[in-house]
Amino acid sequence: MIPQARVVIVGGGMMGCGLFYHLAEEGWTDCVLIEKAELTSGSTWHAAGLCPSFVGNYAMAQIHHYGNTLYPQLEEMTGQYVSWHG
Ligand SMILES: Cc1cc2nc3c(=O)[nH]c(=O)nc-3n(C[C@H](O)[C@H](O)[C@H](O)COP(=O)(O)OP(=O)(O)OC[C@H]3O[C@@H](n4cnc5c(N)ncnc54)[C@H](O)[C@@H]3O)c2cc1C
Repeated sequence: MIPQARVVIVGGGMMGCGLFYHLAEEGWTDCVLIEKAELTSGSTWHAAGLCPSFVGNYAMAQIHHYGNTLYPQLEEMTGQYVSWHG
């Protein structure tokens, strides 16, 4: 393992992987993600896969809106099947 990095993300759940993905998209290459078990084996493994859209507060509404905009494009952007059903 490399001894140091600009960003070290602890936890490879939805939050950690999402952050890692977006840093890479911004061109940040000096990043490491550390997962103590298997990637996405925490809460993320249990998630039903629903992409909700509710307004608990403004920040949450923004996050939901972003996710619901991003997911339909992910397959085309990455070549990875994401089983999106709008
Ligand atoms: C039954 C269920 C159904 C759900 N359904 C939905 C849904 O349909 N839609 C939705 O939006 N949300 C849903 N959720 C909520 C959603 O799953 C969580 O909010 C989300 O997965 C949290 O992601 P996370 O990355 O914060 O945490 P996690 O997925 O738990 O990831 C944290 C990771 O960090 C790792 N870790 C912890 N400590 C360390 C350490 N010291 N060093 C290295 N690694 C470490 C863990 O092993 C884990 O992999 C559901 C949750 C549950 C339980």
